[in-house]
Amino acid sequence: MPMRFRVSQELRQPVGTEFALDLRERSLLLDDDSALSDVQGEASLLRTDRGLLATLRAKARLERACSRCLAPVELPIEIDFQEEFIPVVDPVSGTHIAGDEAEESYVIDADLMLDLGEALRQYALMSIPGKPLCRPDCAGLCPTCGANLNDGPCACQYEDEDPWQALAALKTNDKEGS
Ligand SMILES: [Zn+2]
Ligand SMILES: [Zn+2]
Repeated sequence: MPMRFRVSQELRQPVGTEFALDLRERSLLLDDDSALSDVQGEASLLRTDRGLLATLRAKARLERACSRCLAPVELPIEIDFQEEFIPVVDPVSGTHIAGDEAEESYVIDADLMLDLGEALRQYALMSIPGKPLCRPDCAGLCPTCGANLNDGPCACQYEDEDPWQALAALKTNDKEGS
């Protein structure tokens, strides 16, 4: 699992102790059709009375399909967040910590592994632009044959259109425009 760190030692330190982590990950899957690549950044961990406060700052390239033609698109994105991670077990005794707090925040699992990758994934998903395009004027796919119209017009445009009708439409538009 990428970006998981064992924090059993860090959790045994007194409140206020700080740790630094280097983040470097070739790729991180976000969902079915997007991924991060070249994740680089750093995180600091601060021991709090409940767990570890992680402050993360990372850059990555987002790979996603163009919303019109499905070609792969790469966008640079930056991810910044601060989240407190609460252990589900006591780091010294190993006993389970029952608490409502743990349910609503990020948790450090019973193996005392801090999963920054999952938090990073969630924040990255939130910062994805809604409809990424391979280029602003992407022509998209033909709804009939699925051809990529960026490569030129497809055959069905000629089949569907009556050339005389198309000409008539052009003339009407001209009149409206003037
Ligand atoms: Zn496109
Ligand atoms: Zn077509």
